[in-house]
Amino acid sequence: MSEGAAKKEEKPRKFQAIRGTRDLLPPETALWNRVEQTGREVFATFGFGEIRFPIFEWTELFARSIGADTDVVSKEMYLLARQHDNEASFDLARRRESLMFRAVSSSDKSGIDSFIQEIGKFCSDYEAALSKELVYGDVGTKVVLGYLKDSIAYLSSDILQQARAADWQERFDRTVALCRQYLDMVDATSALRPEGTASVCRAYIEHNMQQLPQPVKLYYMGPMFRRERPQKGRYRQFYQIGAEVLGGSDAPAIDAEVIELVMTFFEKLELQGVQLSVNSIGCRECRPKYVELLRAELLKVKDKIGPDSQRRIDTNPLRVLDSKVKEEQAIIEKLPRIGDHLCKECTDHYAAVKRELDLRGVKYRENWRLVRGLDYYMRTTFEITAQGLGSQDAVCGGGRYDGLVELLGGPPTKGIGFAIGEDRLILSLQESGKAPVAQGRDVYIAWMGEIARATAVRAAKALRNAGFSVELPPVEQKFGKALGQADKLGAKYALILGDNEVTSGEWTLKTLADGSQAKFTEPDLLEHLRKQKKL
Ligand code: AMP
Repeated sequence: MSEGAAKKEEKPRKFQAIRGTRDLLPPETALWNRVEQTGREVFATFGFGEIRFPIFEWTELFARSIGADTDVVSKEMYLLARQHDNEASFDLARRRESLMFRAVSSSDKSGIDSFIQEIGKFCSDYEAALSKELVYGDVGTKVVLGYLKDSIAYLSSDILQQARAADWQERFDRTVALCRQYLDMVDATSALRPEGTASVCRAYIEHNMQQLPQPVKLYYMGPMFRRERPQKGRYRQFYQIGAEVLGGSDAPAIDAEVIELVMTFFEKLELQGVQLSVNSIGCRECRPKYVELLRAELLKVKDKIGPDSQRRIDTNPLRVLDSKVKEEQAIIEKLPRIGDHLCKECTDHYAAVKRELDLRGVKYRENWRLVRGLDYYMRTTFEITAQGLGSQDAVCGGGRYDGLVELLGGPPTKGIGFAIGEDRLILSLQESGKAPVAQGRDVYIAWMGEIARATAVRAAKALRNAGFSVELPPVEQKFGKALGQADKLGAKYALILGDNEVTSGEWTLKTLADGSQAKFTEPDLLEHLRKQKKL
């Protein structure tokens, strides 16, 4: 078969959106717009201004603020490779990529050997290029190169010593996957934003917003990116609507007002089954002591809890409280509660936040196990759930993060904020029947004949200027076909323009719902439609 014939037979690839991403289409997008418009109105009434920050930022910004040990940073970030502007850097990038995508089989001894050798050489060449400043790198780059070297050392010693161990295959796969992850990270200094708070704090510092009247109140809307396992209500590109209050005091009324703001927004949208949970997770004084106590208690029950919770005893014992594992619930209920271990200031602050919520008529439940996944939170934390969402029912999470701006190199600054998961908000509204139905056109112009075409174009312009949605068919159609088309598009009226109408100046308007027809002059028609729209 000739090359040409082979090409002809090759079916063009049918592209689909990447797993975890999706297209939002009309009429659903009308609901998205309504939600965002309502949000903008509510934010404005509480004195918030909009901030738009970049979709990608330095990886280190997220690692430092969200926490390097969190799932969001260590597993779920979309890292971006850098530009290469010299031969050595370009060569390293090419080798990195070839190693990342190399298929390595546990049964191919020589393949494994060359994988190990090439990574070893890659690491030493990378370090040499770093010292000559041919590639950009920071402390993080060196750490990752260290991890990479450890992984290949483990892989080679494993081959020698453990080749016959029962879990060899699993261990091999895991180590190769780690090598790939480190290869990915070594060259990635920026990442797609997994959330918004870090960027808002970065912007607050960068633009010296501490010199503005405090607190600074900002809101944002837009896509976030996390490489999570997709399921209902969980996507890899998802949308958040968030707000932050930075600077000024940490008065409990601020916490309460921020919560009141979200609840007002949800009320305006008529979101159903809204439940607000609040908690205080203490401060730098009292929380570490509680965490140690929790760790000690968890160690006592270590063999009764699952592997994820076991791991968290070391990395982040608070996260154990988040566990949804059925068998662990009874054990968790007996653990010491943070509420009993808050310092005086945190106890008072929490009590005052609750009083302020009562004052505003905001209904809440207390949930001592609400700890939130990100490292930067302190004192007030809250979460809101809504109906119709299954297991992923949190539509909003937020809390106070007083140390964060300082941690990012700014002045000591108080902070509190939240992020609403817009996809889930929309899903819940749709499930409870609050989604809009498809909107048809106001007027379909059914025209026939060259003279009528010019009149139709003019009529379309006049109607659109008056705010009506108009469909003007690009080519002539028989009236019967035109009326069928108008029906399919859900038009309310068909404006019929033929030779008779144009010469007499009396246009025919057909109401499609009941088939009735009436004649109007051009100015009368506009007036009539305006009146009808108001009804
Ligand atoms: P977080 O930034 O993790 O505190 O999340 C705040 C809110 O964003 C959550 O309550 C969810 O509603 C939403 N959210 C977080 N991750 C995802 C995701 N992968 N897909 C859809 N929504 C998400």
